[in-house]
Amino acid sequence: MHVAGHTRGGGDKPRTVRQRLESLAAAGVTQLPRAAGAREGVAREDGSVPGPAAGEPAARDGATAAVERAGDVAASGRARQPAKTRPALQPAATPVPAADDRVGALTVLAAEVAGCTRCPALARARTHTVFGAGPPTARLCFMGEAPGADEDASGQPFVGRAGQLLTKIIEACTLARDEVYILNVLKCRPPDNRAPLPDETANCRGFFERQLELIRPEFICCLGTTAAQALLRTTEPIGRLRKKWFTHGPSQVICTYHPSYLLRNPAAKRDVWDDMKLLMARMGAEP
Ligand code: URA
Repeated sequence: MHVAGHTRGGGDKPRTVRQRLESLAAAGVTQLPRAAGAREGVAREDGSVPGPAAGEPAARDGATAAVERAGDVAASGRARQPAKTRPALQPAATPVPAADDRVGALTVLAAEVAGCTRCPALARARTHTVFGAGPPTARLCFMGEAPGADEDASGQPFVGRAGQLLTKIIEACTLARDEVYILNVLKCRPPDNRAPLPDETANCRGFFERQLELIRPEFICCLGTTAAQALLRTTEPIGRLRKKWFTHGPSQVICTYHPSYLLRNPAAKRDVWDDMKLLMARMGAEP
């Protein structure tokens, strides 16, 4: 990927452009879209890319065992149910963009995210933005809070300890990690892994809303308070949002505890497993 041109007014550091390119590469972007009239691979003056506006410890209970068993089965290549046992996608009310169009639009959006400086402190501190990962036509999206240190370093969502547990949960649901889409409310790591501030969530809202609009998943599973409250625009605590179905656009939404919470409170895995059973039943998947 080649980017020519200079950063805004000479005030932007070359590091910003490098950061942006690394973030894009981490998000799987290998080509930048060309704006009308632009030379191939040329970024704007301000460095942005043309696009539209914007083995956790202890407590092996039944749920844990199910999660781990499913992980083992997945590793042996016997995990997946045949696709024919899953119901077809519901017809959408508005035309659904073809997969290629979604990839293109998501690539443009990822480029915009990679250049975002709306939260100056987060933008200065980040190594990579973490856009999201997964097929653009996924039936199911998992939505977390914000990148942690591992995610900031790699540019990929949920790759640390919480991410490994999320992978086990996904596999316990007879799904493979690479067939679900994973995203966060925030695309930048907050310092010391603190919870996102309201204005940071507001700054990122346009990004995650547009991302979900493009993917149009049938199901969204919110992981933890931040994701549930941001997506559903509520202040209800996660304990009151579990075990219920909500809608967000064309998507059915279920909320459960965040995997990081499970690492601190393994007893809550039982609750998450109950939530996943509700989700699988609606998706027509067998545990
Ligand atoms: N926690 C999150 O909410 N998201 C990640 O990507 C990693 C940890």
